[in-house]
Amino acid sequence: TVSVLWFRRDLRLGDHPALLESMKADARVVPVFVLDQRLLGHRTPRTERLFASLADLHETTDGRLVVRSGDPRTVIPDLAREVGASSVHVSRETTPFGRRRDEAVEAALATDGRHLVATGTPYAVGPGRIRTGAGTAYKVFTPFARAWREHGWPGPAPHPGAVRWASGVDSEILPRAATSTDSPAVGEAAALARWRTFLDERLADYRTERDRPDLDTTSRLSIPLKYGEIHPRTLLAEVAAHDAAGSAGAETFTTELAWREFYADVLWENPDSAWHDLRDNLTHLPYDRGPETDRLVDAWREGRTGYPFVDAGMRQLLAEGWMHNRLRMVTASFLTKDLHVWWPVGARHFLDHLLDGDIASNNHGWQWVAGTGTDAAPYFRVFNPVKQGLRFDPDGGYVRRWIPELRHLEGAAAHEPWRSAGGLGHGYPERIVDHDQERRETLARHESVRGRN
Ligand code: FAD
Repeated sequence: TVSVLWFRRDLRLGDHPALLESMKADARVVPVFVLDQRLLGHRTPRTERLFASLADLHETTDGRLVVRSGDPRTVIPDLAREVGASSVHVSRETTPFGRRRDEAVEAALATDGRHLVATGTPYAVGPGRIRTGAGTAYKVFTPFARAWREHGWPGPAPHPGAVRWASGVDSEILPRAATSTDSPAVGEAAALARWRTFLDERLADYRTERDRPDLDTTSRLSIPLKYGEIHPRTLLAEVAAHDAAGSAGAETFTTELAWREFYADVLWENPDSAWHDLRDNLTHLPYDRGPETDRLVDAWREGRTGYPFVDAGMRQLLAEGWMHNRLRMVTASFLTKDLHVWWPVGARHFLDHLLDGDIASNNHGWQWVAGTGTDAAPYFRVFNPVKQGLRFDPDGGYVRRWIPELRHLEGAAAHEPWRSAGGLGHGYPERIVDHDQERRETLARHESVRGRN
């Protein structure tokens, strides 16, 4: 027999239940990736990263990966017919776009008696599973995380061993990634190596150090997780084995993975929250727009706000396609609370540049900061970009790394160049807004809409 394994957000062979399922009855497996123009028409750095990951998958599948361009609703049924497969195997997709696409493919396959078989998801617990006693979705993180831990998850799926990949199936030429050679290693083996180094060297101090963007203290696995080069089940099992006593580092890391699972669950329950306010508490909040606001937003995008911590984060995003979590919060707060801009504007910019750009984590992360999402911090808590910098980058090293115009300032002075004689003398801009004033403005606007919904 022959089966088709359609890869999407699961570009690995280890801990892959859908792959194991596709191998049943000693089937020969046709591994396929569909280049869907609806997703790839808008090229971002993520597209290049995807191509690099596909090149790795091509090697691990012994050069048998089949690549086809087009609409999966026709490409997948055509391929199944061509190779005589009665089943197409996938890891279940849980985003609004993915769900609609898979339903359509399933229906198209069914017209000539073939099946779409979904096994597993990109999460330890599939979105939609963790429910309250009343059967409803959780709206707040902490009780979700508690229920998620109590629910538990299966251990990693066994490694498939030697897979009988089908040969002789026509494939287009693999798209070539334009990424430079010094970009971080790509693919399943590199993800596992990165993970094990983190486990050995960084996990113990993770709770205390993870908020320090000047130190390389987080796992940086968001990118491999995005492409499914590694599965969170593998991480959870190895954290537990590595740290059976449940140290602070292991606990905190597990909780961070729970945020990823929570936001996927929130999106599953509320598909519209991808681009609309999850809650209606701020429906009447006035936002700024127009040419003057566009100019300020451009300065934010380019890292020229005059607030060094904000600018360092925005420049890291453009240069690396990644930003430290602390900076994601501070820069998102700056756009929504200091520039009074609606969060989707910022969420779109992040998605255009983040290599780990993920609709659930990104857009709900933005809503959390903006105050429309789950667990929203009280509206009067507005991040102060200078104090955040002084606290989490105490020696100014992170700021100097990303802002050459501030390298002449020593230590924490880099966070407040306007205080030093000649601090702004190397081309670094003046502050585009006055934080204290904009904070008061935000509070006044929030006060004015309180209780209006
Ligand atoms: P680590 O600290 O090593 O954490 C391990 C893993 O836990 C991460 O890889 C990630 O999968 C998960 N995680 C950690 N924090 C969060 C969180 N707050 N929400 C969800 N998952 C989390 N994460 C993305 O993966 N993609 C995004 O597009 C994204 N956009 C964000 C936008 C905003 C405005 C905010 C505030 C957060 C966003 N995050 C996003 C969450 C978080 O910033 C990143 O996951 C994290 O910085 C990735 O670095 P890391 O892998 O070194 O994290």
